Amino acid sequence: MGEASTPSSVIPIADLRYRAAVPPIPATLRPASGQLSDALGRPLRDLRISVTDRCNFRCSYCMPKEIFDRDYAFLPQTSLLSFEEITRLARVFVAHGVQKIRLTGGEPLLRRHLETLVAMLAQLRTPGGLGLDLTLTTNGSLLARKAEALHAAGLRRVTVSLDALDDAIFRRMNDVDFPVADVLAGIDAVLAAGLGPVKVNMVVKRGTNEGQIVPMARHFRDHYGGRAVLRFIEYMDVGSTNGWRMDHVLPSADLIERLGAVFPLEPLEAQAAGETAQRWRYRDGNGEVGVISSVTQAFCRDCNRARLSTEGRLYLCLFATQGHDLRHLIRDAGASDAELSGAVAGIWAGRADRYSEIRGSGITPAGSGERRVEMHYIGG
Ligand code: SAM
Ligand code: SF4
Ligand code: SF4
Repeated sequence: MGEASTPSSVIPIADLRYRAAVPPIPATLRPASGQLSDALGRPLRDLRISVTDRCNFRCSYCMPKEIFDRDYAFLPQTSLLSFEEITRLARVFVAHGVQKIRLTGGEPLLRRHLETLVAMLAQLRTPGGLGLDLTLTTNGSLLARKAEALHAAGLRRVTVSLDALDDAIFRRMNDVDFPVADVLAGIDAVLAAGLGPVKVNMVVKRGTNEGQIVPMARHFRDHYGGRAVLRFIEYMDVGSTNGWRMDHVLPSADLIERLGAVFPLEPLEAQAAGETAQRWRYRDGNGEVGVISSVTQAFCRDCNRARLSTEGRLYLCLFATQGHDLRHLIRDAGASDAELSGAVAGIWAGRADRYSEIRGSGITPAGSGERRVEMHYIGG
């Protein structure tokens, strides 16, 4: 289970934080069929790529300041996958059936020249000859500056995270005193650049921003003519630094009841298998909202998502404790594309992760007791 070697001048502290295994390359290499299936019969359709572990926010549920302080050792530049390495891996995943790529982080817009990577990924085609559904999740702080370049490079959609409309609450939640007006300006820039409709994700933490549910819903249904869709996310027990407690979770069912009392709602059918959000329509015709109930209503059964960390480790679940070191294969083992493809197929074939389904059931997930990866490291 070797680690990738690094120049001696760099102390790769962060590299040693999470366990990673070097995946075996199968003896017989078969061409990708675009039809991979994991141990529970789930296909591989969605790849989330973290392009940096750094962030300019310190949201308490993700990167609490006490831990991610001035002394925190983020990954050194040499550990990050280059744009060429990311694109090479992405091509292998697309051949195996990935149709959607989401760039994330950390804050992805902190990665310099991200639009260059977007342009490279936008060239990829599925086995059926289609372009990818290429998206980005961002805290929105740099969007006003970047939206046009991202659109020109071939980005298709953007999801903006925003936890409150009230400026004081928002500044407290991002914990770097960032004003809500600048994120709203970022959303406007996305729409002006032609990247709409935009999804807006709000993590709801009971006792912190639950009072913002109705104001957020009102704002996004009344001011954007259906071009901004708000989704409420249950606060999750990702990683091990955020001090998560079940009583901080507001179940989506309660949230829908509260919101429905103000704006009557009715459920909508899912549009695609593997969709994470349950959609609800405002009865007065003023658009829709979504809820992502990762804690109270697991959706592992259809989970077709893989995550590639900033340093090239593949994770099969948001709650994984072990990654698969693809960077080692490309940088140190000199693997060919066919070998990489075989390794990825083998990893996916063995996937049986379903953490949310068994959370609280008494079953012990594989690797429990080990340190879980943090959200800023593998993205949402
Ligand atoms: N920095 C970017 C952002 O905030 O959009 C991208 C990375 S962030 C890790 C991706 C998403 O994860 C965000 O929407 C964020 O709100 C969400 N997230 C982070 N920690 C979470 C937690 N403990 N529970 C639920 N969602 C979380
Ligand atoms: Fe940064 Fe996004 Fe995590 Fe907030 S949720 S600290 S913006 S990575
Ligand atoms: Fe997918 Fe893991 Fe989340 Fe289940 S817990 S939906 S397997 S990422």
